[in-house]
Amino acid sequence: MLDTLERADSAGAAGKAEHFDVLIAGAGISGIGSAYHLQQQCSGKSYVVLEMKDTFGGTWETHKYPGVRSDSDLYTFGYRFKPWVGAPIASADEILKYMGEVIEENHIGPNIRYGHRITACKWSSADNRWTIEAIRLADGSKATFTCNFLWMCQGYYDHEKPYIPDWEGLSDYKGHFVHAQLWDPRTDYAGKRVLVIGSGATAATVVPAFAEKAAHVTMLQRSPTYFFCSENKNELADRLREIGIDEPTIHRVVRAQIMYDQDMMTKRCQTEPEVVFEELKELVRAFTGKPDFEFEPHFTPKYRVWQQRLAFCPNGDVFRAAVEGKVTVVTDTIDRFTEKGVRTSSGEEIEADIIVAATGFRLSVMGDIPFSVDGKPVNWSDTVTYRGMMFTGVPNMAWVMGYFRASWTLRVDMMGDFVCNLLNHMDKIGTKRVDVQLRPEDAGMPLAPWIEEDNFNPGYLMRGLDKLPRRGDKPEWRHNQDYWAEKDQIPATDLTGAEFKYS
Ligand SMILES: Cc1cc2nc3c(=O)[nH]c(=O)nc-3n(C[C@H](O)[C@H](O)[C@H](O)COP(=O)(O)OP(=O)(O)OC[C@H]3O[C@@H](n4cnc5c(N)ncnc54)[C@H](O)[C@@H]3O)c2cc1C
Repeated sequence: MLDTLERADSAGAAGKAEHFDVLIAGAGISGIGSAYHLQQQCSGKSYVVLEMKDTFGGTWETHKYPGVRSDSDLYTFGYRFKPWVGAPIASADEILKYMGEVIEENHIGPNIRYGHRITACKWSSADNRWTIEAIRLADGSKATFTCNFLWMCQGYYDHEKPYIPDWEGLSDYKGHFVHAQLWDPRTDYAGKRVLVIGSGATAATVVPAFAEKAAHVTMLQRSPTYFFCSENKNELADRLREIGIDEPTIHRVVRAQIMYDQDMMTKRCQTEPEVVFEELKELVRAFTGKPDFEFEPHFTPKYRVWQQRLAFCPNGDVFRAAVEGKVTVVTDTIDRFTEKGVRTSSGEEIEADIIVAATGFRLSVMGDIPFSVDGKPVNWSDTVTYRGMMFTGVPNMAWVMGYFRASWTLRVDMMGDFVCNLLNHMDKIGTKRVDVQLRPEDAGMPLAPWIEEDNFNPGYLMRGLDKLPRRGDKPEWRHNQDYWAEKDQIPATDLTGAEFKYS
């Protein structure tokens, strides 16, 4: 009641903070999903979503390179509450349309403030609330909000500054150089020689897309990647549709099927990685129609299958383009850029009209927003993570960090339940503050970097490990990237456990 009065009061007074029970940072797939769960499960709570862009979508709005699409299936990358009715792999536009429907159908739109960049998050123990400072990008004016609980859904990478290695001679290059994240869709590449640097999921998408119109595409990779070739269809979904099953049931059943299959695949990758690699190769042979397809040296990765996300390859398109001579793969490192292209360490010069860096992201922990608790700046690497969701020393705050090997959004739904249960529990016991804290049995627990390098090691996380919170060696203090364990553990969380301190 007090909050409601304060909100009405502050909204009317220019320059004063607006108060909400919950403030959600970011209107990407995490922020929109979190808003939905909050509305559904904590219906009395007021909330606002602050988004710096002029529209929703996050990742799917930022990336505009040719062919941009998901590499997970949308039955699991879509929310559990909104059936996906299309082909499993979706374009960015299709994902944006889906998210737009979620916003529309659930009347989330009026709660989103676009064009608001959060610049500081300050916790006050005296007031038991956060003060969130933001800038309205339209006119540069300042806006201040207060909230009881802060739900960080700002993603994990810098949307404006991608990762570009410090290449020698880059300024000598006279052609068009761009990072894939900053690709302008008006760029004409028809009939041009395109060089793509990288071999991850982005490269796997742009290389065949460029090959459709470019004169030639070269994919220059430092090291090979595993590719999973498949048709973009789900036979079970198609069959269930054919026999008239309703879409919510299809969504539920197909999600279960995909998650089961992925679980089996993950286990097999660990127990019989060679067999799995042979199967991946067999798919390449089938899609290219080349039983003698040569995998050495460009398609034999050095890391273990599943240490990084498998790059999806619809209908074997990368391999077919290579077989047809539209794409050349070079496995080498860059010595330097030249006026006409790139010289590799082995001395080969690759000339190109357009060079596209598909070299990944620049990790951005909490959006690089300065956080403070009672005036003291938060250094994330001094904190310990509670299941990759909350952090010691930082009250009333959760961060949505999804899965990398399974669909990110599975964790958005799961965390939606967790945060709402936590908020409802706090209301029930009449408390305004929750901290996560190491328990007596955690005393002396060894702390390690956030990510287990031998388990999952994409470059952008490895480059930023020193900025990330730390983990312990027990399930409560790790973000283990294991959906199949967490799907049982997180819903079963005992909110009265000693790891939660209410005050
Ligand atoms: C090209 C590409 C393809 C991908 N494909 C898949 C896939 O198929 N499957 C999968 O599981 N994962 C995929 N991922 C990972 C993907 O990023 C996540 O799945 C998911 O989209 C992240 O959603 P998010 O809402 O957490 O973060 P984001 O999409 O990064 O959205 C964060 C939002 O927060 C806003 N924001 C950030 N800082 C501030 C601030 N200071 N103030 C206000 N607003 C702020 C941003 O503008 C943005 O809108 C892909 C990533 C990329 C880049």
